Amino acid sequence: MSKSLVMIILREDIQEFNNSNEQECDFVLNAHTKKIHKKDCSSVEQMSEENRSYYKGDINALLDAGYSACKSWNP
Ligand SMILES: [Zn+2]
Repeated sequence: MSKSLVMIILREDIQEFNNSNEQECDFVLNAHTKKIHKKDCSSVEQMSEENRSYYKGDINALLDAGYSACKSWNP
């Protein structure tokens, strides 16, 4: 698989889960590290805007896609 094709797939993955906004989302995702953060997680503030995805929906869809909950989060 070419590098450019991988990039396209990654971008689509980010878009898929960027379906909400800062106020409405259930989770804030770091598309770079593939971590799931709660909205009130302190890491979110330190995350660069371009790596953030705002997701509203079932967390299992994120886990299936290779995302994992961040360290400061113990469900
Ligand atoms: Zn976090």
